[in-house]
Amino acid sequence: MKQRAMINIRGIVQGVGFRPFVYRLAHSYRLTGWVCNTSGSVEIDVEGDECALNQFIDSLRMQAPPRARIDNLEASFHPLIGYDAFLIHKSQAKENEYQLISPDIATCEDCKREIFSAGDRRYNYPFTNCTNCGPRFTIIKDIPYDRPKTTMNGFVMCPDCQSEYSDPLDRRFHAQPNACPVCGPQVWLVDKDGVRIEADDPLAKASELLRAGNILALKGLGGFHLACDATDEQAVRRLRRRKKRPSKPLAVMIGTIAKIKEHCYVSREEEDLLSSPVAPIVLLNWRKGKSGIAPLIAPQQHDLGVMLPYTPLHHLLLAKADIPLMMTSGNLSGEPLAKDNEEALVKLAAIADYFLLHDRDIHVRCDDSVCVVDRGTRVIRRARGYAPDPIVLPFQAGEILACGPELKNTVCLTKKEHAFISQHIGDMGSESALAHLKDTINHYESLFRITPQIIACDMHPEYVATKYARQLASKNNLPCISVQHHHAHIVSGMIDNELEGKVIGVAFDGTGYGTDGAIWGGEFLIADWVGFERVGQLEYIPMPGGEAAIRRPYRMALSYLYTLFGNEVSLDGLPLQQVEPIERRVIARQVQQGINSPLTSSAGRLFDTVAALSGVREEIDYEGQAAIELEAVAARDGQDARSYPFFIDREAQTRVVRLKSTISSVLHDVRAGVLPATISLRFHRTMAAVIANMCELIAQERDLERVVLSGGVLQNRLLAHLTGAAIKSKGLEVFSHHRVPCNDGGISLGQAVIAHFASSKTGG
Ligand code: ZN
Ligand code: ZN
Ligand code: FE
Repeated sequence: MKQRAMINIRGIVQGVGFRPFVYRLAHSYRLTGWVCNTSGSVEIDVEGDECALNQFIDSLRMQAPPRARIDNLEASFHPLIGYDAFLIHKSQAKENEYQLISPDIATCEDCKREIFSAGDRRYNYPFTNCTNCGPRFTIIKDIPYDRPKTTMNGFVMCPDCQSEYSDPLDRRFHAQPNACPVCGPQVWLVDKDGVRIEADDPLAKASELLRAGNILALKGLGGFHLACDATDEQAVRRLRRRKKRPSKPLAVMIGTIAKIKEHCYVSREEEDLLSSPVAPIVLLNWRKGKSGIAPLIAPQQHDLGVMLPYTPLHHLLLAKADIPLMMTSGNLSGEPLAKDNEEALVKLAAIADYFLLHDRDIHVRCDDSVCVVDRGTRVIRRARGYAPDPIVLPFQAGEILACGPELKNTVCLTKKEHAFISQHIGDMGSESALAHLKDTINHYESLFRITPQIIACDMHPEYVATKYARQLASKNNLPCISVQHHHAHIVSGMIDNELEGKVIGVAFDGTGYGTDGAIWGGEFLIADWVGFERVGQLEYIPMPGGEAAIRRPYRMALSYLYTLFGNEVSLDGLPLQQVEPIERRVIARQVQQGINSPLTSSAGRLFDTVAALSGVREEIDYEGQAAIELEAVAARDGQDARSYPFFIDREAQTRVVRLKSTISSVLHDVRAGVLPATISLRFHRTMAAVIANMCELIAQERDLERVVLSGGVLQNRLLAHLTGAAIKSKGLEVFSHHRVPCNDGGISLGQAVIAHFASSKTGG
């Protein structure tokens, strides 16, 4: 018997070879009808033998292409029409409907084979791609995903490409960015004055220049990279000086897994992640001493951030250069990634010696993602390969825009069950960063047909993103909901772990504006999606000079000493003796009289303090540096099992962690000549015990048993491990971040969710 079905499929079903797959499947079951992309979904109208039709529907789910993801499949049965063939219809745009968009996908094995096969028509061609790989998000201007709505619009396919594109049995059937050397984008090389350097093979010439120690700006997938020979200490030093980035770790791109193993230890899981379609930067255990990579790439670190080539351009360049390449974002410090040729030539002229340019425009800036494998994949920076994949919410959200925090900013837009966390936007310290934030919001709004009805922002009145959110809300007459920073952290962690109801939230963090106007960051909350109660904190200590205390951890260390032990405290035997007496007196007065010294309970500042006291780091040049180096220096042999004392005080409704005995013991160890490695380990263990003891007290009192760990300080894996184990030993359950960063990159998600419930609570 014959039947006809109308099938509607939602999920990631565009730009991943879904229609050709449906076409082939329909033919194999001898069905007739059509398939079509709409802006909301893929629609199929199909008829034929009942049994074949049912198998067809099953196979849609079971055999979907590797990059496709079906979230919802609905089929309904209708009277026969009598189609005589199966066809792919032109895409239809539907008012207000939206469609998920595939992130950019690293080069597939088939395309890789072609670019390295002499004789293939795409041999050596840096823009090779197919339905299984290639640029997506970064070239898409609008939906439905079709070539005219991408930056490939200007390139007219040659007859060969056109015939691949039109052949349902070809790997490039409807591959929107399809291109070849005859008809597609081209690459060329210029010097820093923009003068073209003639070369038969610009990639070969570029790799020669790299091998000779030059710094190359190269246009990639989501923006420019700055590259140099990662084994050339001089080149790396030059890049650091020109980029004004003295010590923040840089990433390395290495041609193959086998070559990565010459420099790092790589587990099976890490290998899978590196070579996955996301192809992120993965933090690997660096075989220092064995590796020829310049130590200056990541000073004071055990880990090295490594990625494989993820576009044909990178594959070819790496193969020709045959050296590991240092790769860092092509931007000036504090600014977003340069993405256009002209922009790069202007902005990067003082950094790069040469530029490798091409004429496929980048529509959306997107940095490399950064991950670590630690009991599963944990995303530290969520960008290329992840964005704009949404997080699926356990409820139907309104249309909300959350503008995110000040540092490591992302924004989040919600619609129905989807939370679209933007790619990493970065620190909001410049005009161009704000422009990037606005562009990103506009792009997500238009791609996903979102018209925000509620705006969410951080509670900090001075944050650039907060000010923008408030302007936007008042201009459009929308409610603007201020969300406490650490509440947002915990809810972000809850959504990441699909938790509902009340949890104990531990937010160990750098900086977050508190409801009392103080700077929070060592917080114990009872939180749910709607609200929170602060039930514990690290004790308040003044931050002498505010921001200055963040940049100079020794100031924070002095503040701890003056606050806890008085101004007469002896600095004998401490690295703090080197601080000028005048500055010490100023700090003492600031602390005593509270001049320009906001109070903080920040765990980040406490880690800074111990780093400064133990001589690990007194001044920093990137965020979190002192704490990061304190973690790196910690002894890994596990011989010493001691920790420092601390007290938990009860003050009205909250518990306060008192650190006088802790700091006093640290001072004792420093003066006794105990190694920083040992002090650091003892301190980490102490913090784990602080968290576990607090959680135990709160859990007993409030009858809760789930603990969510969040905040940038918990990116510290030593702390996370020790803390997780300590909490479990109290019989409690622990949850930490995986898909969403535990640092401020995850804040926007928490803001959006909290704003949704705040507005439904007030009936708005
Ligand atoms: Zn491919
Ligand atoms: Zn072509
Ligand atoms: Fe934070």
